[in-house]
Amino acid sequence: TKKAVLGPLVGAVDQGTSSTRFLVFNSKTAELLSHHQVEIKQEFPREGWVEQDPKEILNSVYECVEKTCEKLGQLNIDISNIKAIGVSNQRETTVVWDKLTGEPLYNAVVWLDLRTQSTVEILSKRIPGNNNFVKSKTGLPLSTYFSAVKLRWILDNVKKVQKAVKENRALFGTIDSWLIWSLTGGVNGGVHCTDVTNASRTMLFNIHSLEWDKELCEFFGIPMQILPNVRSSSEIYGLMEINNIVLVFLIVILHFQCLGDQSAALVGQMCFQDGQAKNTYGTGCFLLCNTGRKCVFSEHGLLTTVAYKLGRDKPVFYALEGSVAIAGAVTRWLRDNLGIIKTSEEIEKLAKEVGTSYGCYFVPAFSGLYAPYWDPSARGIICGLTQFTNKCHIAFAALEAVCFQTREILDAMNRDCGIPLSHLQVDGGMTSNKILMQLQADILYIPVVKPSMPETTALGAAMAAGAAEGVGVWSLEPEDLSAVTMERFEPQINAEESEIRYSTWKKAVMKSMGWVT
Ligand code: ADP
Repeated sequence: TKKAVLGPLVGAVDQGTSSTRFLVFNSKTAELLSHHQVEIKQEFPREGWVEQDPKEILNSVYECVEKTCEKLGQLNIDISNIKAIGVSNQRETTVVWDKLTGEPLYNAVVWLDLRTQSTVEILSKRIPGNNNFVKSKTGLPLSTYFSAVKLRWILDNVKKVQKAVKENRALFGTIDSWLIWSLTGGVNGGVHCTDVTNASRTMLFNIHSLEWDKELCEFFGIPMQILPNVRSSSEIYGLMEINNIVLVFLIVILHFQCLGDQSAALVGQMCFQDGQAKNTYGTGCFLLCNTGRKCVFSEHGLLTTVAYKLGRDKPVFYALEGSVAIAGAVTRWLRDNLGIIKTSEEIEKLAKEVGTSYGCYFVPAFSGLYAPYWDPSARGIICGLTQFTNKCHIAFAALEAVCFQTREILDAMNRDCGIPLSHLQVDGGMTSNKILMQLQADILYIPVVKPSMPETTALGAAMAAGAAEGVGVWSLEPEDLSAVTMERFEPQINAEESEIRYSTWKKAVMKSMGWVT
């Protein structure tokens, strides 16, 4: 059969906390042509610990690429039209591997992991000079969330890693580095790199000079030779070969670029202007507001982070970020731990049956509370229970919790930026839930706007890849997204009701804080 003729295609590996996807877009219209998704296991070996298997993550990428290529073949689309692949990835999650064997030396310590709580307490007493030492260089509070303390823990506790560091065989990376090194050849010359957005989440990277910071590495006790090279988010890092048997031994050479998942979503939503913001509802929830070339420091518990640098000679853009640890993860918890739903989508059905939490509030502080509280000692609570409460109310309260947490970071963002957002652009796996979207509009009391094509993170990574020098098939102009339309949710309850619910939520949050002493 004759293959369909298309413009240049761009692929994206979207490696999230809950799943891996590979997607292929038409660079002329941003139309999603084909994709494949595989769920990723999360291990909880002890209370507060969260790990993933780096090999499983890598294999899931291979599987997704292979399956997507098969599907493209069935659509008569020639995979040699794929000109580049971008990577967007869960940030902060920490991997150490052996560059001679290509084997991980320990499980990936996931961003949500709380094992470093005591490490953080010890380090916070030793901060040199003023308390601003870490924040002024990195834009981040000293927290269990970021890679430096996870890496410190691995170096202190894993013998194999200590030995490999001594023998100069250890490499450190976040998921982007691990994947890119493996996919560009691994032990046979894999490229050990990361981009500025991922580097800015390690707590070792100076967001002003855009380099690894020697003083920070000394403070955290991190040997600098294990760190990856830092590149822009849109340049060719290396080559990957796909030898796809189904497609008659076709070999495609692809170029790689990467972008942390939240930055990718910002690009995918075309938030290129100062003051433009988006909120992504995945495992956690992340509201990023582009602050342009200015590095704005928050007074209300938000982070300052690198938004993107789309090319070696292009300027760096910064963002203010409100991070919420648990959003979609609460759905997964209801599914895997309580068993009250069988699939994530079922939560909507339960919530719809009651249409209210009936006074039940659920603070899912499973990994402490992130923005704006930064309290690692908080733990989850469900309160306001009566004999009337059933699983439907709990499901509703879980969805409402995601919306309240977003309200808290939006309030902080509005205070820091001075100009309140007039609407909220959203994306991520959870946004397919219509009740959640309506509740969000009600609780924020502004319209919520969602693109019809939900894979914004992958789209952003594909755009950055397609726009790279030497690839040049995507120009990052608004008309390049002509296949994407918008859906709007308008507030439907009155502002007073919205305020009452929100203030009761705040009471519940206070009860969850300071739980672990
Ligand atoms: P990540 O990028 O963090 O892997 P995704 O954007 O893929 O996350 O979203 C997946 C998360 O969203 C999972 O935690 C899942 O439980 C949750 N989720 C998916 N669909 C729904 C839904 N319809 N309602 C509520 N939660 C959902």
